[in-house]
Amino acid sequence: MFETSAVVAVSGEACVGCRQCVAVCPADALSMEGRQAVVDESACVGCFKCVEACAPFGAISVVRDPNPRVLTVPAEEYSQPEVDELCRRARLSPDAKVCVCTGTSAAEIAAAVLAGVEEPEQLTLATGVRSKCGMWCLTPTMRLLAAHGVEVTRPYNDRRLYPDGCTDVAIWTIPDDVADKYPEYRLRENLAAVESGLALNSPTPWFPDVQPGQDLDGNPA
Ligand code: SF4
Ligand code: SF4
Repeated sequence: MFETSAVVAVSGEACVGCRQCVAVCPADALSMEGRQAVVDESACVGCFKCVEACAPFGAISVVRDPNPRVLTVPAEEYSQPEVDELCRRARLSPDAKVCVCTGTSAAEIAAAVLAGVEEPEQLTLATGVRSKCGMWCLTPTMRLLAAHGVEVTRPYNDRRLYPDGCTDVAIWTIPDDVADKYPEYRLRENLAAVESGLALNSPTPWFPDVQPGQDLDGNPA
């Protein structure tokens, strides 16, 4: 859950039309009209990534949000069993705050995904996830989408998503032959520690119902 408090404004005089701000916006709030960047205040979540991107030109400034919005999916609006099941498939605890900046939980994101929100930028507007640093929350967001069968494909140079967030890469997806080839990284031991609960796979914690020696469906691994 995240409540907006600030948005941005673009100075038409200072803008040189480089598109760098558009390329980093996690909420698709910026677009180009000719060689002029324009902001959709109703979509801006106030992450200020565009302000950083535009630092050489200083065309973007921070202003108070005239219409603050609460970005969340309230628990009473979703089916808990379905949300729990999707979180389980993504190996996330439903209560885990997968976005450390906004406190957005895995359950909120799962509920939005189940409601049909399938683009990361729309998930930001639905739940507040990725509204700030965007470092820790991207992988769990992608993992929940993948667990629901949604594949997000982007050009290699899309700066809103980083490559390690585009796939379901995790300790349990590393193939056996890779673990065998690099024993010095102790990949099997690390996986055993995560699955037994000895190590917390923070910030995407181990789902407590997954028992050691079982796959996600409770069958012997
Ligand atoms: S980064 Fe700045 S100069 Fe470049 S398009 Fe955006 S507002 Fe204009
Ligand atoms: S990058 Fe962040 S601050 Fe800038 S328009 Fe997009 S959401 Fe708003």
